[in-house]
Amino acid sequence: MLRTHTCGELRLSDKGKTVTLCGWVQRIRDKGKLLWIDLRDRYGITQITLEEGVAHSQLFEIARKINREFVLQVVGTVEERISKNDKIATGDIEIRPTQIVILNPAKLPPFLIEDDTDGGDDLRMKYRYLDLRRNVVRNNLILRHRMAIAVRNYLDKLQFVEVETPVLIKSTPEGARDFVVPSRMNPGEFYALPQSPQTFKQLLMVSGFDRYYQIVKCFRDEDLRADRQPEFTQIDCEMSFVTQEDILDTFEGLIRYLFKEIKGIELPAFPRITYADAMKYYGNDKPDLRFDMKICDLTDLARGKGFQVFDSAEVVLAICAKGCADYTRKQLDELTEWVRRPQIGMKGLVWVKWSNDGLKSSVDKFYSPDDLEKWAIRSQAQQGDLLLLLSGPEKTTRKAMSELRLEMGERLGFRKKDNYKALWVVDFPLLEWDEEANRWNAMHHPFTSAKSEDISFLETNPAAVRANAYDMVINGVEVGGGSIRIHDRAMQEKMFELLGLSPQEAKLKFGFLMEAFEYGAPPHGGIAFGFDRLCALFGGADSIRDFIAFPKNNHGRDVMIDSPSEISQEQLKELHIAVTFVKQT
Ligand code: ASP
Repeated sequence: MLRTHTCGELRLSDKGKTVTLCGWVQRIRDKGKLLWIDLRDRYGITQITLEEGVAHSQLFEIARKINREFVLQVVGTVEERISKNDKIATGDIEIRPTQIVILNPAKLPPFLIEDDTDGGDDLRMKYRYLDLRRNVVRNNLILRHRMAIAVRNYLDKLQFVEVETPVLIKSTPEGARDFVVPSRMNPGEFYALPQSPQTFKQLLMVSGFDRYYQIVKCFRDEDLRADRQPEFTQIDCEMSFVTQEDILDTFEGLIRYLFKEIKGIELPAFPRITYADAMKYYGNDKPDLRFDMKICDLTDLARGKGFQVFDSAEVVLAICAKGCADYTRKQLDELTEWVRRPQIGMKGLVWVKWSNDGLKSSVDKFYSPDDLEKWAIRSQAQQGDLLLLLSGPEKTTRKAMSELRLEMGERLGFRKKDNYKALWVVDFPLLEWDEEANRWNAMHHPFTSAKSEDISFLETNPAAVRANAYDMVINGVEVGGGSIRIHDRAMQEKMFELLGLSPQEAKLKFGFLMEAFEYGAPPHGGIAFGFDRLCALFGGADSIRDFIAFPKNNHGRDVMIDSPSEISQEQLKELHIAVTFVKQT
């Protein structure tokens, strides 16, 4: 090797050793008689010191040609430093060089390779290989690596087998648009990239693999957000001969193991909450349980007192912000503006303060202190608290209330990144009505089974049918989800029919799976975790981008390699594709 040690490993105990280090120049300081080079690699930084009269003058000559990010090889002896630096692990020593070799010069990087960089997002993405030299980003990827190893260790111990499934497949119904790949050998035909390995993992259960997992790339052509990428990674898992309970146990175990191994945190058993309760109390199916502030329904108490807004509302909902009775007029006006923003879409906000002088509200004209007291009691408010009320149609009001709850949680400092609250949301509805398409959609995916006690409603009241489906939620983020599957051909056919697929279409798209069900399919179920999201959560970040080595930007572009890009006429011809571009204005 070109080096004997890394830039992060030498200590005072190595004093006197002759060593060879390789790395990049982090910084160079030239004081004339003394010159220092900070040499950096993945492992740390070591100071190289040249002193006039001690170091050969040729070394000074070489050193004065060096700039930031040059790649060097340095041979020298380890010496004790006079002024020590307790901020770095090698801060007690320095290298007195006898030889400096410039392995490769470097252009000045377009942004600072420091923890706090001056590079904006676009620049960092274009020069991602330089961005990856920064500690913060590199540490995220190392965290990701450690998480992947821990996942494999845990699942391996439980006899899970990692199997690779194909990337060139046909459409998988996870509800997003497919990325497609034209087939040269089959004119006019296309592969689809997997939105998940769903059907393959089910086929592996038919094959008797019993326990499968894969850390696998999935592809979904959706509009992008901070926590979405067109290609992302799942920890995809499937088990045979299990109940929902077994799956929840096994994978709660996985996540608790990860928290223990990676963060040294012992999480308590995960509470379970039904989808119906999650919607009722938190207005959303991925509740943030780092704080309570449940949504309380005041509709019956609030109606019938002459306040037109509440009288005409489908629901009147409240949350109680503990200790906020001292909110000023200005703060309340500002909150009212906040709920009126188009993203929230409410017309107004009603408040009730319970201060030392009793209960006071923005609707005192219509409600007596007795009325307000009833609201307060139901919302479990106490003196010193503030009630915030929204009203309107049920669905939109619950959603808005969920946002307001999160906002208040944020303002009150309840959403600390290093406080982890995990839970399971269970009993999801099997189907959801698609207004636009005027038909039922599978809420999870079409392979999810219905609760046996609800199957009889499939014909009469599909909306009431609950699925054997579950999500794991941590701090308001859905980190994983899955279901117990249908493993019976007739039932699967019925499900496709319910979803508006003709028998011909069902056969064309999923005939292979239904056929497999006729050759001895075991009862099975599984789950998939969003690995990028899980890593971001462990790393205390909101965006998954810096946990992916080479991510795409918000337009789905890789700005470093400049992709997607056009392909040549020859390639298009070979692929039997005639392209007419319609320029969008
Ligand atoms: N394939 C599902 C998904 O990607 C997960 C599962 O049901 O196991 O969400």
